[in-house]
Amino acid sequence: MRLVLIGPPGAGKGTQAVMLFERLGILHLSTGDILRENVKKGAPIGKKASSFMEKGELVPDDIVIEMMLDKVRSSNADKGFVLDGFPRTIYQAKKMDEALKDLKIPIELVVYFETTLKTIIFRLTGRRLCKECGANYHIVNMPTKKPGVCDKCGGELYQRKDDNEETIKTRLEIFNNQTKELIDYYRDKGILREMSGDLDADVVYKELAGIVRVR
Ligand code: AMP
Repeated sequence: MRLVLIGPPGAGKGTQAVMLFERLGILHLSTGDILRENVKKGAPIGKKASSFMEKGELVPDDIVIEMMLDKVRSSNADKGFVLDGFPRTIYQAKKMDEALKDLKIPIELVVYFETTLKTIIFRLTGRRLCKECGANYHIVNMPTKKPGVCDKCGGELYQRKDDNEETIKTRLEIFNNQTKELIDYYRDKGILREMSGDLDADVVYKELAGIVRVR
């Protein structure tokens, strides 16, 4: 299954993609994770991207497109994948569609998680990540056993710099002004499914996995 997850920040795209990877073995490609890894390593892409990311703005299309297509080409993408956080603009979507068509691995399904503002703010302001392994937690919904310490690897937890109310506002505006158009783009192609992003992760996963398994 070749799948794209679309939704505002905090819709649960990353959580669902990790569940699909852990339970069904579907390769998870997250633009945000790959960019943050590059920033951490001090790699050239990370240096170009970090100021945009801190402000909650989109990293320029050409940087992100090249990075993601390289990743797809160098992974076992013919066995299926889930894209999380990419594409985020119509330009990215068109470039990706052309490249995946050439590779004979076009996108089969796009799921849009419609999510209310209340859920978004609650999830993002309470989100914590592990500095070492990147595992995701939430101070209320998914706390670690020991505060501030990752259950999986014992690493230290941190809050993303862009998970503050001001930057969340910018990220939401960008979603509404640039990313939301993708919903009609994929609906016109007949491959869009819409689901609520407000529901608990397990409920969303059950529906999502049901769709993914029958394909
Ligand atoms: P995320 O982890 O998906 O919330 O992404 C974090 C940040 O990485 C975003 O706010 C952008 O600055 C950048 N980013 C992630 N994906 C993309 C993309 N497809 N296009 C441009 N910038 C992106």
